Amino acid sequence: MNHWTRPSGLDRTQSLRVEERVAQEWSAAAVLMVDPHGNLAAERGRPRLLTQRGSQLPEDILLGWFGGRPWFVRPVTAVDGEAVGWRDLDPADSDPLAAAVALTRWHATGPLCERCGESTQPDLMGARRICPRCGTLAFPRIDPCIIVAITDPDDRLLLARQGPWPEGRFSVIAGFIEAGESAEQACHREASEEVGVTIGALRYVSSQPWPMPRSLMLGFEARAEDGRIRVDGDEIVEGAYHTRSELAAAVESGSVRLPGRLSIARHLIERWLSPR
Ligand SMILES: [Zn+2]
Repeated sequence: MNHWTRPSGLDRTQSLRVEERVAQEWSAAAVLMVDPHGNLAAERGRPRLLTQRGSQLPEDILLGWFGGRPWFVRPVTAVDGEAVGWRDLDPADSDPLAAAVALTRWHATGPLCERCGESTQPDLMGARRICPRCGTLAFPRIDPCIIVAITDPDDRLLLARQGPWPEGRFSVIAGFIEAGESAEQACHREASEEVGVTIGALRYVSSQPWPMPRSLMLGFEARAEDGRIRVDGDEIVEGAYHTRSELAAAVESGSVRLPGRLSIARHLIERWLSPR
């Protein structure tokens, strides 16, 4: 079961009385620490929480309620001790961790007011920012991306390697959605540009946040019209269709390394490996 297709464990419900509620529950709050690059303070595979909370600081960002208590993130310039990425921690904590990384990174960019250019300030405990000069509100930006598992008419899966990746690391095709483009159009375009594939049938599967720094991955499955590939040699340097047994053998021998277990890329690959 895919974690991201179930209701979030993080209750983001905001109300006008949220500050009052936080003041009452601050003594039980969980406070994460995240640096501007999105590294979390951790301890043996779990997020490390501030034990000495002290008073609530103006820069503390409210994530919401999780496990019956309020969760915050306190942005730090550098994590002291064990520092890990959000996806390296226990998946059970994914909901507050993804929010903590996304919000910390957004606030760290110190966005200017889009109307008058003044520096904005955190507002509503970090849920948004506000311009002190003209009052314009700013909300966290999310960049939508598509990721698409393409199979050929013989149900072989296309895996490709991007230029900067090390030898042996392969995944499915992905890319940003351009302005004025639908997610489906982005799938057709990326398949055509990167691997010269014409997609016939296309189906949405599920999505996943990817706050590195601010993406939302929209996962699709597609059937190519034929088994031909033409890698662009630029973004993609290597690509091939695999049968299930070929991929199993390649993974076994180490010539193909699959994306991490918690990634949507892996989820799409696993769906193909074990069709229902
Ligand atoms: Zn302004």
